[in-house]
Amino acid sequence: MSRQMGDSHRRFLQTMMANGIIDEQGAKALYQHCCEVHSTQCAADRLDDFIEVINSKLQPMFMQIRKGMSEVTGYQHYALVNMAETDITRMSSDYADNELELFRKTMDLIVGSENGTASSTDILNSTDSMTTKKLKKSETEHLLSRFVQDNWLSEKRGEYTLSTRCIIEMEQYIRKMYPDQVKVCYICHNVAFQCQICEKPTCGIKIHNPCVARYFKGRPDPHCPACEEFWPHEIPEIRRPRSQSRR
Ligand SMILES: [Zn+2]
Ligand SMILES: [Zn+2]
Repeated sequence: MSRQMGDSHRRFLQTMMANGIIDEQGAKALYQHCCEVHSTQCAADRLDDFIEVINSKLQPMFMQIRKGMSEVTGYQHYALVNMAETDITRMSSDYADNELELFRKTMDLIVGSENGTASSTDILNSTDSMTTKKLKKSETEHLLSRFVQDNWLSEKRGEYTLSTRCIIEMEQYIRKMYPDQVKVCYICHNVAFQCQICEKPTCGIKIHNPCVARYFKGRPDPHCPACEEFWPHEIPEIRRPRSQSRR
């Protein structure tokens, strides 16, 4: 395969720029589509090589298409990432200072929680201690839906989590900011927020829910892979590809 960036690569990149993030199945379909439109060779297993060609051209602009797992579905996603800004200042063109402060506070709550979520009530309460211009309740609610719309947070029944895109983009920042709180998944070694935790206090390893599903599949008597203590949590089902959620 040519290492040169062609029209098919450019088309793929344009779609990534418009979408920000795409799941693996979507990326494969897009790759095939881009190759068909521009009559270039397409091998199903060469998606990562194809992306690498794009990444080699993005590097001087401090951008990259990076792969990461959805903590909800366990499926891989591809996100177009800004490498120049390593913290949440990357969001500063879209948000005011006090809005960024609320995002930081939300992140504090999510990272500090056991299960990687923050309730809307807790987020609303956190505005009391804001140092920048305080947000009203209605402004906070509106802002939270903007964070969801812009793909920084995900929301389910009033509980907020970091979106897959946010984790892919900000992993380094999160590791640096919360070195004592951030743990990695014992199975896949990626940072883990929404996960199950070993209840043995001296162990306390974390495993993502989809990694739990895969690891304990077919093991009727689940034990912690690190300390061998009984694993008391409900073992989730393995998700089928292309369920309702795309992130
Ligand atoms: Zn994992
Ligand atoms: Zn354990």
